[in-house]
Amino acid sequence: GKGGVGKSTVAVNLALALREMGARVGLMDADVYGPSLPLLTGVTGRPQTREKRILPHQGYGLKLMSMGFFVDDSSPVIWRGPMVHGLIRQFLTDVEWGELDYLVVDMPPGTGDAALTLTQQAPLAGAVIVTTANDLSLVDARKGLAMFQKVEVPVLGIVENMSYFVPPDLPDRKYWIFGKGGGARVAKELGVDFLGEVPIDARVVEGGDIGKPILAYAPDSPPAIALREIAEKLV
Ligand code: ADP
Repeated sequence: GKGGVGKSTVAVNLALALREMGARVGLMDADVYGPSLPLLTGVTGRPQTREKRILPHQGYGLKLMSMGFFVDDSSPVIWRGPMVHGLIRQFLTDVEWGELDYLVVDMPPGTGDAALTLTQQAPLAGAVIVTTANDLSLVDARKGLAMFQKVEVPVLGIVENMSYFVPPDLPDRKYWIFGKGGGARVAKELGVDFLGEVPIDARVVEGGDIGKPILAYAPDSPPAIALREIAEKLV
């Protein structure tokens, strides 16, 4: 989907939810231009290599790989298409992932080089589209969906993020900030499953800024509960 809708946040927390269920999980950040995994997990530093294999970092019980481990975040990353292709391929083939039950891949926005490479290089079990309920994000969600359908990757469903706000002092109220039901409507229209709504919550941002995904930072918060339910549906 579109930039800023919460793809990375959803990817990290879905990986964590799968881990909580007892699975062996890897998390690969395929956004080579704007990697966010180091910030979201607090894990940094150049990975070690052994016999020409790259050893993934460990964090929250997950195996992690991101371009952000190789570049410092002050320098802009400029990659041409073929380089992106090479990097993604290396992340798939040269990283010592070991035996995994799931490899969750956080995709960059849009339908660019990284997405195409990935679909060509790996037998993807399925794609999850993340969107907010507003029209502009839904346009991108539709495009993402069409791309995966074109390359015959099953679309497992749509997650609507930042769906509604529950005021802490009025826990029974829900405010639908971007309008109600956009994600569900698009899912229905396109014939894919709707996986659920994740509420907007300041703790997601707070945790994200200090390297603590919401499942670890506030495990009983409404967004954490929603993300766990989505992971269960995915499984
Ligand atoms: P993307 O990967 O799609 O660019 P991010 O996961 O980086 O999006 O999220 C963008 C911003 O929105 C981050 O600051 C993140 O903390 C925040 N965010 C994501 N999901 C939520 C949510 N459910 N509630 C509040 N803030 C959120």
